[in-house]
Amino acid sequence: MSVKAIYPGTFDPITFGHIDIIKRAATLFGQVEILVAAYTSKDTLFSLEDRIALARQAVAEIDNVVVKELSGLLTEYARANQVQVVVRGLRMISDFDIEFQMALTNRKLYPCLETVFLTPNEKYIYLSASIVRELGKLHAQLDEFVPKFVAESLYRKFAR
Ligand code: ADP
Repeated sequence: MSVKAIYPGTFDPITFGHIDIIKRAATLFGQVEILVAAYTSKDTLFSLEDRIALARQAVAEIDNVVVKELSGLLTEYARANQVQVVVRGLRMISDFDIEFQMALTNRKLYPCLETVFLTPNEKYIYLSASIVRELGKLHAQLDEFVPKFVAESLYRKFAR
């Protein structure tokens, strides 16, 4: 049986850390849907359309991965689409509290959904989209952190 997994997030913008998790998930599950959150408590730098477009470009070559918008509650999406697994990335201990709380809350809302935590290659454990945005603002070198087209979009946002 092919298991479908979802990987939700803000992806503002997608980074090599996210992509590392996506590649690991794609080897474990039959299909992986990246769900780009339309509503987020954070103010995003990129519009929903841009966050989706950048994520699509980043995973274009991975056969079993698709990118979609998540406009409502994650557990409702999972229920409506018979999704059994939600993938989350765990970087450092600082991610643990919120991820644990979210996993248990989602279980209350939809008990059939299992949260699977994956850890990235250690070179990405300190990497976050917020750091990338800050570096982009200062036109720092981003080769180690995001694909070239993401870096170019960031530089355009912060054109001098
Ligand atoms: P961020 O925390 O970078 O703003 P998101 O809100 O888009 O990213 O997070 C989506 C998921 O991806 C979360 O589970 C988050 O922990 C995970 N994630 C983000 N960056 C990394 C990384 N560098 N390595 C592993 N997982 C990551």
